[in-house]
Amino acid sequence: MVAPPHRRRLIWFCQTEAVAAAPQVLARLRDEIGLTTVMPESPVSHTSGFAASAELAAAGPFEDWRARLDAWPRGREGVYPPVAGIVSGVDDAPLRRVIDASARAGIEVWGHLGLWSYGGDVYPEHALCDLEGRPLDRRYARWGIGLCPSRPVVHDWTRQCLVHAVRDYGVDGLCVDHARYPAPANLHALVACGCDDCRNAAEELGYSFDAMRQGLRGWLERLRGLTPARLRALVQARPAASEWLAWVGDGGVWVEWLECRARLLARQMAAFGAAVRQAAGATCVFGSDVFPPSVALLGGHLYEEWERGVDFLTGGASFGGVVGWATCVPSVVAEWGGALLRAVPGAAEEDVVALLWRLFGYDDLALPRRLPGQPGEELPLEDIYARELARLRASSSGAVPLYPPVTATGRAERTRRLCQAVVDCGGNGALLNLDLQQTESLAVVGQLLG
Ligand SMILES: [Zn+2]
Repeated sequence: MVAPPHRRRLIWFCQTEAVAAAPQVLARLRDEIGLTTVMPESPVSHTSGFAASAELAAAGPFEDWRARLDAWPRGREGVYPPVAGIVSGVDDAPLRRVIDASARAGIEVWGHLGLWSYGGDVYPEHALCDLEGRPLDRRYARWGIGLCPSRPVVHDWTRQCLVHAVRDYGVDGLCVDHARYPAPANLHALVACGCDDCRNAAEELGYSFDAMRQGLRGWLERLRGLTPARLRALVQARPAASEWLAWVGDGGVWVEWLECRARLLARQMAAFGAAVRQAAGATCVFGSDVFPPSVALLGGHLYEEWERGVDFLTGGASFGGVVGWATCVPSVVAEWGGALLRAVPGAAEEDVVALLWRLFGYDDLALPRRLPGQPGEELPLEDIYARELARLRASSSGAVPLYPPVTATGRAERTRRLCQAVVDCGGNGALLNLDLQQTESLAVVGQLLG
């Protein structure tokens, strides 16, 4: 039997309040570019703007954020911390307006709320800790100080929040955000979470937490023996895949640990997806943005596992921010490279950077030889993006539709290359970041993807 083709979608990741104030934009985008779906997010609540029910508020582990303004200074402006569900006090009138206007325009609405990769700084009692039980180093805070994904009290409440969103708002689907560990540029988060709840969950999946912790300790010990000369030899040797594996620890302990983390998240996502479909029917879709293929496993995404519990794969942005598909690897190279230079005094910056580009299979691209992030630097974002999409095609099974992230907020030529990469990888549409003033870019989206 041949499976039916995946549904084509153009999903606009938009701002709830802006669309509520000018809902006529929906019909315009439907006609001009073929928009099928909106995914509204409020910058105030970090969800689509859902109001909590009385039951959710009573059970909510994050209700007291207004008493934590020292840890969350933006709370003084009324901005909610990004946590794993729906917190009370939100006026949902703007979201209701967007839902009504979308129905009139024949456009789907996907609800949006965050999960785990932020909020640990405001809620240390639910935060990720490393394998030694220590809180995450604030040095990497810009990449996220996350929540533990295995805390039963948070998981149960989050599941109720998702069910509330689909039942009380009748949205056509949910695309959750932050369904991941902090971005892998946060080096310390790579060895999280080491709490008892994660240990129990890992052992249920058949992993030995103590063996992995011992293996990673041993790997770190050996890393301390790295010298500038040894590093230079590694660069010049152009390592093969089997050599990389040998270097990631005895028995491939890094691979085992990263797979374990990813399976923990995938299991939680599958439980959420099942609850959503049970509450709203099988036509209500559930999924999340994921990291691009090159860093997916490092951030907690094993596509093969993820696809079992979700109805689609998408991403947050083409470039920029924490999850931009073309900037994730440069961010990792900048942070890991900086750490390696501190760990191996006297190492050459060019060696460290070359080794890391090679690790991610980027070394044939026109990339800087110094740590990324220097003033005036120009990265070949379109080439990097196309590579990640080629890898997406190669590494996803085809079981669910692919909606790669297209940031069409800049000049038309860049938008054209991003959209072409989506076409070339066999994408089933895209998740769009739009600037409505950029009419040429909008037209390109319509031509290539609409
Ligand atoms: Zn944990």
